Amino acid sequence: MSKISSEHPRVESLRIRELLVEGFKAGLVVSEGLAAHGRGEAFDYIIGEKTAEQAKKAVEAAAAMLLTAKRPVISVNGNVAALVPDEVVKLADSIGAKLEVNLFNGSAEREARIAEYLREHSAKEVFGIGEKFSTRIEEIHSDRRKVDKRGIAAADVVLVPLEDGDRTEALKKIGKKVIAIDMNPMSRTARAADITIVDNIIRALPRLVMAVRRLSRFDRVRLHKIVDDFDNTKNLKAMVELISKRLKNISR
Ligand code: ATP
Ligand code: MG
Repeated sequence: MSKISSEHPRVESLRIRELLVEGFKAGLVVSEGLAAHGRGEAFDYIIGEKTAEQAKKAVEAAAAMLLTAKRPVISVNGNVAALVPDEVVKLADSIGAKLEVNLFNGSAEREARIAEYLREHSAKEVFGIGEKFSTRIEEIHSDRRKVDKRGIAAADVVLVPLEDGDRTEALKKIGKKVIAIDMNPMSRTARAADITIVDNIIRALPRLVMAVRRLSRFDRVRLHKIVDDFDNTKNLKAMVELISKRLKNISR
């Protein structure tokens, strides 16, 4: 039960923190994940903790790209599992995507724990666990290069919520289409991805699930047009402008 009063002005943000703290205690999230969340929520504070028009556009494009993908994969880390376990499973089910546990600060134990947690939230299959199907992305020079042969290694489109820049850039180098969810429009991940949803994952994932449902009625020509018409550089620039405008208004 939450101890946070619903009268508190930062109630939503504090509830999200609670989810991470619970995830930390359950061994899903590591301390570095808590710090990464801090960077994200600072940007959320600045944009006003609501979904911007630019993010809505990116969600639409992401849904279209996922629906036209042949082998889509959703990469899941500890923060993602702790914050939106039901929604990642729902999204995977609705587009026939694979779920793969992929950790920045990995351990076999934590991988297994995250997979187990996703299964408790109705995931049928979770890749990225153990060594049997693992392979390496040579472009990444650390133990973070491990990926699943059946998952990310074989994917055409990879959704990376809250990802590090090195990994995102490496996925691009090996020819993947990348969709990122990242509060920071200036991060390397945001800039390297083909489509970046600059929004809190707590709001972005349910929106993405809804958009996929809505767009699933569209034919492929229409879906491809939505993807082609989307300009990530322009969208990120508009997000930075929004941040800058909000800061100017506050400092008046
Ligand atoms: P990069 O490596 O891409 O340049 P970074 O080093 O600044 O980024 P990382 O810790 O590698 O940051 O990645 C975490 C990213 O996830 C950050 O950009 C942060 O803004 C973002 N983030 C954290 N929590 C959330 C959240 N709840 N929703 C959306 N984005 C988030
Ligand atoms: Mg980083």
